[in-house]
Amino acid sequence: MRFIATDSRDTDTLGELEILRRLRRRNKGTSSASLRLGIGDDCALLRIRPGEELAVTTDLSVAGRHFQLGWHPPEAVGHRTLARGLSDLAAMGARPIAAFLSLGLPRELTTPNRRIGSRSVTESWIERFLDGFQALAKAYKTPLAGGDLAESPLPTADVVLIGAVPRNRALLRSGAHPGDALYVTGSLGGSAVGLAILAKLADHPTNATSLPPPVSKKMAAQLVPHLYPQPRVSQGLWLMRRRIASAAIDLSDGLSSDLTHICNESGVAAEVNADSLPIHSYATEAQALHGGEDYELLFTALPAARVPRSIAGVPVTAIGRIVRPRRGRPQVALTSAHGVRPLVARGWEHFS
Ligand SMILES: [Mg+2]
Repeated sequence: MRFIATDSRDTDTLGELEILRRLRRRNKGTSSASLRLGIGDDCALLRIRPGEELAVTTDLSVAGRHFQLGWHPPEAVGHRTLARGLSDLAAMGARPIAAFLSLGLPRELTTPNRRIGSRSVTESWIERFLDGFQALAKAYKTPLAGGDLAESPLPTADVVLIGAVPRNRALLRSGAHPGDALYVTGSLGGSAVGLAILAKLADHPTNATSLPPPVSKKMAAQLVPHLYPQPRVSQGLWLMRRRIASAAIDLSDGLSSDLTHICNESGVAAEVNADSLPIHSYATEAQALHGGEDYELLFTALPAARVPRSIAGVPVTAIGRIVRPRRGRPQVALTSAHGVRPLVARGWEHFS
């Protein structure tokens, strides 16, 4: 963990050293055999087993783009920051080894005991962020092994995840072949439902504070897939170990976009059967196809492969097949009883 000097004369602010002290205290109990040395020295030291390759992924979360301070509870921002990285490891069939987290935060987000509107807040934003981050880190045995902290006008969280996978066994986007069947874990569109609810709540004038507004129990349940998505690490590991998947990707941008990524990398086309989509109970078909941030796994397998109905407790659904690309036919087609229509990538894309 590196330090960037911050001015800590403001006694209400935790200060970088105090934040780091609390972080190390919280971090106790999260360790792994692969982490020889964590926070405290100039570098972390990691060990991998003989015959393994490292899988490395980085994800940048920026306030206003990936999360809204007024919508997302800090615990959810921490959880989602780590979940995005773990989901990338899951998509490769890699086991998580360690996480590195760099935060750029305005001073007020490190300040406890403040008032926002009529509400008083005892824990600082950063501590609640770390609560969410480290709860997920513990659940997936992924120790926080280092990072950086700096004062910044725009809240940003950058996470680096290190994983390991047996040599030449990582699940790639490029392995799909015509004839392969197409599968997805879990259900689709749940995150888009939650995001739509948050946006509606934020529009309400009485909620114009910088805290998420209170919600009913039913609504809170509908927010869970968006606020606390579960990366499919066990499912990715299972697919890698059984050598069942020919290609895989995690659904971060949305099925239409992520399936297009597989098609582009594999040089194939795909057909999705609209009637077999596992659409989340509150979601529309459009949210399931384009919503994004579901963090389920999309994978292909030989038609003869024995793909179970569920992997490690999460349902698996066959949703279509990989076909040879043909001129005049869409790269990704959506088939249903009503006919065939092109499924155009309309998921998340930056700078678009
Ligand atoms: Mg990914």
